[in-house]
Amino acid sequence: MAPVHDLVARYRVTDPRRFRLALCDAADTAGVASKEKAASALGRGVERLAELQEKLYAQDRWALLIIFQAMDAAGKDGTIKHVMSGINPQGCQVTAFKAPSSVELNHDFLWRCICALPERGRIGIFNRSYYEEVLVVRVHPELLAAERIPAGLVSQRIWVDRFEDINAFERHLTRNGTAILKFFLHVSAEEQHERFLARLKEPDKNWKFSLADVQERRHWDDYASAYEAMVRHTSTSFAPWYVVPADHKWFTRLVVAEAIVAALERLDLSLPRPDAARRRDLAAARKELQTT
Ligand code: ATP
Ligand code: MG
Repeated sequence: MAPVHDLVARYRVTDPRRFRLALCDAADTAGVASKEKAASALGRGVERLAELQEKLYAQDRWALLIIFQAMDAAGKDGTIKHVMSGINPQGCQVTAFKAPSSVELNHDFLWRCICALPERGRIGIFNRSYYEEVLVVRVHPELLAAERIPAGLVSQRIWVDRFEDINAFERHLTRNGTAILKFFLHVSAEEQHERFLARLKEPDKNWKFSLADVQERRHWDDYASAYEAMVRHTSTSFAPWYVVPADHKWFTRLVVAEAIVAALERLDLSLPRPDAARRRDLAAARKELQTT
């Protein structure tokens, strides 16, 4: 099996200007032959994640923001469930962003996401995010109209303006101690088709089926262009995109787990060391417990 750091580097976008979605194979597995081969590596990744999360929490300096974007049925929910299975729920919060409410529409597009950012010491997961503002909103112009932005501020430049504002926002967050990881789970149109059919055929999966998702398939090419533009304009050194093949769920989960572990390892986390005063307090507490 390929070394794990290669796996992470393989899907990180480091040359965004040359990024082409059409050149990314959604069925790629980097030479990892099967689910069984990946399972033990995933298990180790999940364990390591739990250790690192404890340090993140105890050190209470950094926050980690993990963003998931994808077409429907690419496996966001399952990936979040599996990868985060070992971690302490107290230190982690998942927020799903759906179509904005009327209260949310009264604010700028970052507002609702800012309210959900992780505190220091925590991991925050965004299941969809402000990136919908350059995806679904770009594909459906009536959604932009619903945002009631003054007419003079809306032009063809709006998408480039949004990319710039998002990059500035993410730079601000990283400069203040929130590390950012962004995953685009890249599923093929064929595999999405199969998964929708399975949702219809298998009674246990019926609940996941949505007619609206099937209708969105009509806009597949527009979404592909919007995703490509997003990756090209918002892959930065401080918050790069990982474009993760999503036709094989077991592989998606492995890559995501490894990328999160690698990101936390880069933060150089450690448990806080007691200073002299704290050591004195601990010694006094020990003494008291021994005599009572
Ligand atoms: P699942 O279907 O797996 O439960 P989901 O993330 O697809 O999860 P849905 O409730 O089906 O959840 O869909 C959320 C919808 O909200 C998506 O179609 C998404 O594009 C839309 N959405 C998210 N953010 C915005 C936004 N800022 N403006 C308009 N629509 C948005
Ligand atoms: Mg959906």
